[in-house]
Amino acid sequence: MASIFKAAEYFLPADEAYTLLPFRFIRLDAGRYVAVNEVGEWQTLTRPELESLVRKELPGNTPFYYSLKSKHFIQDRDSDVALDLLALKMRTKRHRIAEFTSLHMFVVTLRCNHSCKYCQVSRQSEDRIAFDMTAAMADKAIDFTFCSPAKAIKIEFQGGEPLLNFELIKHIILKAEDRNKAERRHLAFVIATNLSVLSEEILNFCKQHDILISTSLDGPEDLHNATSIICGSLWARHNSSSQCGNLTYEPIWACSGSFVLRSPCK
Ligand code: SF4
Repeated sequence: MASIFKAAEYFLPADEAYTLLPFRFIRLDAGRYVAVNEVGEWQTLTRPELESLVRKELPGNTPFYYSLKSKHFIQDRDSDVALDLLALKMRTKRHRIAEFTSLHMFVVTLRCNHSCKYCQVSRQSEDRIAFDMTAAMADKAIDFTFCSPAKAIKIEFQGGEPLLNFELIKHIILKAEDRNKAERRHLAFVIATNLSVLSEEILNFCKQHDILISTSLDGPEDLHNATSIICGSLWARHNSSSQCGNLTYEPIWACSGSFVLRSPCK
């Protein structure tokens, strides 16, 4: 069966007016194609233009030709810096890979005392502790986190409501800080929380260990209270006549000045 690929010689610089640089293309609709290359440059073309391009039959000295040339789809004899420019753009675009990831999410529990209408995590009720991360899992996750070559490492605690597993958060932070005595990375912690189970003990720990708190408001008070539903024991403390209702907006708003606010939830 005939190969669908051109022979290697096809891509070698030859006597043609220009050579092709690497790109992909896909049909957009009945009449148009889009070509993209590794540095994110793109060009829409008609089918005849695409065919002319790959057959190396494009006429030079046209705006279309110069557009393709400036976007590194083609290289001609007058563009000996084209490959260097392409390499420079590629290096800039992929720069982050050298540092690898610095943000690591620890989902310490899937339990949550809220039942927000838009919740997109696999939220579990407060009593289902089988959905908590264990200390053994956390230790492995810390090892994995420090495998990153990044100079700065941020550990963010997510859920569910992560503060329902505060003991594990403390374990992870103390262990990571201990490990960092030798690693000497720039280590930071964030707890993404609905704030509903904050206590003096938690706040003191956050202060001692310089932990950032991230929370969210869903908009003005009526919108927030309509979507962020709190269930179970905490609500019972707020309102003994009901077991399920809306978290009031004011406690979050009142303390929001010292927190990072994000939307949607966490
Ligand atoms: S607080 Fe977050 S995790 Fe809990 S129900 Fe709301 S969106 Fe889901």
